[in-house]
Amino acid sequence: MITLYDSVKRGKCEFVSIKKNEIRMYVCGPTTYDHSHLGHARSAITFDLWRRVFLAHDYKVIFAKNFTDIDDKIIKKFLDSQNSQTPFASIESLSQHYIKSYLDDMDCLNVLRADIEPRATENLTPITQMIGDLLKQGYAYNGENGDVYLRIKSDSAYGSLTQKGKENNENLLARIENMDDKMESRDFALWKGYKGKEDFGYESEFGKGRPGWHIECSAMIEEHLAYKDENICIDIHAGGSDLFFPHHENEASQTRCAKKKELAKYWLHNGFVTINGEKMSKSLGNSFFLKDALKSYHGEILRNYLQGVHYRLSLGFNEEDLLSSKKRLDKFYRLKKRIGLHENYPKDAKQLQEFYYHNSKQAQNDFICALLESLSDDLNISKALSVIEEMINRANEALDKTPKDKGLCKQIAHNLNTISALLGIGTLDSQEYFQLGVDEQKRELIKSLISKRTQAKAQKDYKLADSLRDELKNMGIEIMDLSTGTTWEAL
Ligand SMILES: [Zn+2]
Repeated sequence: MITLYDSVKRGKCEFVSIKKNEIRMYVCGPTTYDHSHLGHARSAITFDLWRRVFLAHDYKVIFAKNFTDIDDKIIKKFLDSQNSQTPFASIESLSQHYIKSYLDDMDCLNVLRADIEPRATENLTPITQMIGDLLKQGYAYNGENGDVYLRIKSDSAYGSLTQKGKENNENLLARIENMDDKMESRDFALWKGYKGKEDFGYESEFGKGRPGWHIECSAMIEEHLAYKDENICIDIHAGGSDLFFPHHENEASQTRCAKKKELAKYWLHNGFVTINGEKMSKSLGNSFFLKDALKSYHGEILRNYLQGVHYRLSLGFNEEDLLSSKKRLDKFYRLKKRIGLHENYPKDAKQLQEFYYHNSKQAQNDFICALLESLSDDLNISKALSVIEEMINRANEALDKTPKDKGLCKQIAHNLNTISALLGIGTLDSQEYFQLGVDEQKRELIKSLISKRTQAKAQKDYKLADSLRDELKNMGIEIMDLSTGTTWEAL
C-alpha cells in the first residue's frame, strides 16, 4: 500500500491509481532563465524518489516535467545579455543553454530523465487551442492590450484546491498581476499581447503575443499526458509548495473550464530550502547555485543530504548537517567495499524497471520489505534511513563472524543494490567514492609517493617506506596494501 499526503485533502490518504498498474505524473519544471539552485534540486530529487517508489511497486510510470522556455524573466535576461560581453543570439539559444545546464545538473544528482519534457514554445498549438476553447465557452475575455484573461468568476469551483481566491480579494491577488485591463484583480492572463520592441511574440488567432505561465501546464498535460476517457486528466500533479497557489489553482481552473475535467487526482508539494531561515530564492539574493555546490560535493553526497529531510518539511541548508549525513553514505560505501561489490548500476527509468522486475522474482527479504514499506508511507525517509542503518550494522556483524560466506555477501549485495535503486545513491564504485574531492595534481603526487614507497619496500628500506606512509597521512591520505597492489583513500 502507498500512502501520500495530498495537499488538497490536507491529509494522508491511500494512493489508488486511476487505471490499474499505471501512473501518469506531471511535475512543474523550471523557467529556463538561469542555472538551477538547491531548491530546484530538492524538488527534482523529491519527485524522482516518488517515481522510484512507484516503479518499485510495479507501476508503469509516465513521468512528465516541463520547461517554461518563454517568460518575462527570460526576455529580460535576453535583453540584458545584449549589452554584455556574452550576448545570447536568440531567446531560443538562451533557453536551450539553461535547459542543458538544468539537465546536466540533475544528471549529477542521479535524477532520472523524464519520459516527456514538453516545452512551451514547442506547444503553441495546443496552448492557443485551449485559450480559444476558453474564449468560445465564455470563460475567458479579451483585454484591450491584446491580452486574454481567464474570467475566474465564471468558475464556481475556483479555490477548491487551496481554499484561496474564492472571492475577488484585492489584497491577496493584486500583488500577483497588475490590474491592467482585467475585470477582476484575481483574473489572470492566458495570453500576453505583444507589447512592442522590448517584447517577444508569436502570431496567433488572438493577435501576436505569448502564452501566460499557467496555461502552458494545462495545455501540455492535455496534449501529452491526460487520459482522454476519464474525468480526471492525470494521477499526480506535483511541484514546489510555492506553486500551489496561484499556479496550481489556476491550472486546475483552466482545465476544469476548458475540458470539464479535474486536472489531477492527487497533488504533491515539496517544502522549501531555506538559508538562515529564509526561503532560498533569486529575488532574495540568497540562492545557492547547484553548480557551486557540486564543485564542493559530489552529486550523490548532495542528494543524500537533500532527501534525508522529509520532503514536506523545509530544509535549512547548512554544511554541518550535510557532512553528518555524509557519514551515513560512508557506511554504505564501506560495506560495499567490504563485500567487493562493483555492479554496474541502472542509469535510466527503463533499466530501473527491469531491475525491479528482476528483483520481484527474488525473495523479498525482511529488509527490502521494511525499506519499501517506510518509503511507501509518504516517503518516511527517517524510518527508511534507520532501517538501512540497522541492516548495515547487522551485515557487518555477520561478516565479522563469517567473512567468506558467499551466500551472505550475495544477500548483502542484493540489499545494497536495492537501496541504490530506490534512493538513487550508492551508485559509484567504492574506490572512486573514497577518493572524491582529490584533484588531479594531488592524485599524481599520491601516485608517485606510493610508487616510491613500493620501491623502498622492495629494497627493504622500511624506514623510508614508513616515512612515506606518514607523509601521505599528513596530506589526508590513507593507504592500504592489498594483494592487487596499494590503494588509497581520502580521510
Ligand atoms: Zn505548472
